[in-house]
Amino acid sequence: MNALTPFNLPLSGMSQGLHEFRFQIDRDFFACFDASPIAVGELAVELWCDKRPDMLVLAFHLKGTVRTACNRCLGEFDLPLDAHHQLLVKYDIEERDEAEVVYILRDTPRLNVAKFVYEFILISMPMIATHDHGEGTCDPEMLKYITSEEEWEAQQRAQVQQQKPRDDRNDDHLWDQLKDLIKDI
Ligand SMILES: [Zn+2]
Repeated sequence: MNALTPFNLPLSGMSQGLHEFRFQIDRDFFACFDASPIAVGELAVELWCDKRPDMLVLAFHLKGTVRTACNRCLGEFDLPLDAHHQLLVKYDIEERDEAEVVYILRDTPRLNVAKFVYEFILISMPMIATHDHGEGTCDPEMLKYITSEEEWEAQQRAQVQQQKPRDDRNDDHLWDQLKDLIKDI
């Protein structure tokens, strides 16, 4: 059995109304996706499937951790995730995916939701993840290096500014004159 097989929702024979599904995600799940930025993670997924005559409303709750690199010290840590996502499944004469809506044929026997769960995990991650989001602290050795790099950049900027003295107030004055000109036209 493939790690994604449990994510099949048995649509044929499913009665109308609410149905609850629970899935567990581990590293085998992420290994099924090519070029996944996540290799290690432990998440519990709770799915409420509301089957209606004209569509299905899927409400996902993802809770757990994914291992990622800290954007500050580059050390790996377990990033906690706790996110809710919704997906509408509608019927049409051809299958296609759109933002938050999936179209399937009306007689589709089962729908595998693994790729949607995978996408939800990725979009639940913050753009910049640091140790502040999880347990543990940044690697102090790496922080020393990063701080000295920032100081070095600040020194470079200071040197450039000394070489090119610039009066911002003068620029503002020119800008005011320009605005007056535009008004007159
Ligand atoms: Zn860190």
